[in-house]
Amino acid sequence: MSSYCLACSKLGQDCCREAHAKFITLGDARRVADYLGADINSFAVYGELKDEDREEYIYINRHQNYYYDLTRRDGRLLQLKDKSDGSCMFQEEDGCCRIYPSRPLICRTYPFWYSDDFDILFDPCGSDCRIVCAVTGNDNPEDVTKLDDAGGSRRAQAMAYIGHTDESIKELLGTMKDEIADYEAHVELFVRNNNISIP
Ligand code: SF4
Repeated sequence: MSSYCLACSKLGQDCCREAHAKFITLGDARRVADYLGADINSFAVYGELKDEDREEYIYINRHQNYYYDLTRRDGRLLQLKDKSDGSCMFQEEDGCCRIYPSRPLICRTYPFWYSDDFDILFDPCGSDCRIVCAVTGNDNPEDVTKLDDAGGSRRAQAMAYIGHTDESIKELLGTMKDEIADYEAHVELFVRNNNISIP
């Protein structure tokens, strides 16, 4: 975990604690199940988006390809179960992740995402992330204009904070892209076969 992520955890302001849906691919679900030696339905749910997700400006305006688009078919998303406060079920008291070696792709790549033409960009909902704020000087989560980074220097700096390079994050995002295609093709069957609850 980077020092920025640790600082967020200590302050109780980290992304694991936020009440957004924690999206998982089918591959994520299988990897976490293997790591825990547990059934997928013990930690995954096929649920609706949270209010926090629906309120996101970027989601509503669809500036680009985004995983919330996956909910277009039925409003649901395969996601990790959460605690009563909306935080991730795998986050320990001290902020650490119980499944860190097999954490989902979205947890490995945040605050980065890919654009329609597969360029790397800041997650547009990440303007409240300390790493994004640190490199953009943006302390206003509503202000997404500062996420513009034509030269890519802020992006490189932010990636260094989470231990990535252009190449390594692109490889992970490539896996994410492949697994999203798999998700789109097979999620209903996967939910049925694994007795995943649909609240
Ligand atoms: S799986 Fe781990 S890294 Fe991902 S949201 Fe949960 S606690 Fe955070």
